[in-house]
Order: sequence, then structure tokens, then C-alpha cells
Amino acid sequence: MKLEGKQAIITGGGSGIGAAMAKRFAAEGAHVVIWDLDEKGSRAVMGEIQSSGGIASFHLCDVGSTESVRGAANGLERPADILINNAGISHIGNLEETSEEDLDRLYRVNIKGIWTCSRAVIAGMKENGGGVILNMASIVSHMGIPDRFAYSMTKGAVLTMTYSMAVDYLDDGIRCNCIAPARVHTPFVDDYLAKHYPGREKEMYDTLSKTQPIGRMGQPEEIAGLATYLCSDEAAFITGASYPIDGGFLNLKR
Ligand code: NAD
Repeated sequence: MKLEGKQAIITGGGSGIGAAMAKRFAAEGAHVVIWDLDEKGSRAVMGEIQSSGGIASFHLCDVGSTESVRGAANGLERPADILINNAGISHIGNLEETSEEDLDRLYRVNIKGIWTCSRAVIAGMKENGGGVILNMASIVSHMGIPDRFAYSMTKGAVLTMTYSMAVDYLDDGIRCNCIAPARVHTPFVDDYLAKHYPGREKEMYDTLSKTQPIGRMGQPEEIAGLATYLCSDEAAFITGASYPIDGGFLNLKR
């Protein structure tokens, strides 16, 4: 039980990587609080945790709205020990294919959402004498891949916001790190395939799998395993770091 008694807010905990983290954190003894726009998915995750004896709650929340996040934070019974800024949305396209609306939409969730949620919990963490903030970056925080202009903009900012928060709150005992995955098999990927390759989903799934040198996509549970470690006291010496979890994508070429 690496997270016994810790209160962990997980944004976007109703699907994919966030759902896997919510379940794993609860299994490690954390009291999980899901902040998500997806009520149905979040309630299903919460129900699964509760029926296996874990503790979980859900607050409908749009991380891009200060007011919505304030409402969710007001619902907390005590200050959070852990915040995982995981909620995120994607966009495919180079700069000519990215509209002003796309840019603003991606900024609002993937960048501003980290500010709103972190700002809502930071005072409580300081009062508590410490805490952990873990942000969901991406390999595109570290390298260029085609047709990800807006998404790369946001994930680059996730990395630099991680550095900024880590240094600013060193003396408050708050650690801040990020995880940088390559492709992980979640609804995020399935929606992308359905939208861009209708009828060719299986073929494109295999192609995308092979872009990871290890030959497959990551599983949400594998990201949850790394997140568990980074949020536990075993990682007490780790702050201001980005952890690739990418099947060799960043450093290996076949
Ligand atoms: P997903 O689409 O399966 O889940 C995202 C969750 O975020 C959903 O439950 C959704 O309702 C929620 N969400 C979206 N906008 C929100 C908002 N404004 N307020 C509150 N909740 C909101 O996605 P996923 O694949 O699990 O991705 C999770 C994170 O991991 C994202 O930040 C994504 O950029 C990042 N990531 C994913 C991959 C991948 O291949 N899946 C790779 C690298 C990074």
C-alpha cells in the first residue's frame, strides 16, 4: 500500500490513463477524487473502485473553467496530498490546419487546466507541509512528430510548467514531475483512428503500434504503475523531472 491514506485528485479520471491511475491509486490505499467532464465514465470508475473496497468520489468539473474547478475544490473535505493533472484533449494538424478556435481549445484544457487545478490545491498542500503534483506531458514535449502543432504547443508547456512549479515550491515540500508517454492504447487513440481512418482502424492500429520500437502501444496500467511510484514516498528525491514511458520511441531506432 504505497499511497495509504493519501487523498489524490485525478483529473480526467473517467477514461483511459486517468481511469487506470484512479483504480491503481485506490488499490494502493489512496482516497481517489475524480474531476472530469465525463459523468458516466467517471461514475463507472468510481463504482468499480468502491465495489472492490476502495475509496473514491467524483466531482463534475471542467478543468478549463476557474469557477468549475473552484466548485470541485470546495467539495474537498481536506487538502489534497496528490494532484494528477491528466485531463487532456488532442488535435491533429500542422499550423496551417490549426484554426484559432483549435488553438484556444487546446490551450484551455491542456495548459490552463493545469494552472486552474494546481492553483486550487497549492495553498492546502503548503498548509499540509507538502504534496505531489504530477502532470501528463507526452513525448511531443521532447521531440517533433508530424501534424501535432497545437498539441505539441500544449505539451511543451506542460513540461516547462512542471519545471516552474517544481522550483517555486521546493521549500514547501511539494514535488512536481511529469510523465511523457508515447502512444498508449486508450479511447484517445481509438477515437483518433475512428475519426481519421474509418474502416481502416485495425490496419492503422498495427501501423501506430509499430512506431514504438518495442512494437506495441503502452497500456494505461503501465502509466499508472509509473505514476504510483512518482507519487509515493519512495520517489521523495525526485522533483522537476520528466519521465518518458515510450517503448524506446525517444532514444531508439530500429
Ligand atoms: P482519454 O480521452 O481516454 O481521457 C481523457 C479524459 O479527460 C476524459 O475522461 C475526458 O472526459 C477528460 N477531459 C477532457 N477535457 C476535460 C475538461 N475540460 N475537464 C475535465 N476533464 C476533461 O485520454 P487518455 O489517452 O487517457 O489521455 C490522458 C492524458 O494523457 C492526456 O493529457 C493526454 O494528452 C496524455 N497522453 C496520452 C497519450 C495516449 O497515447 N493515449 C500519449 C501521451 C500523452
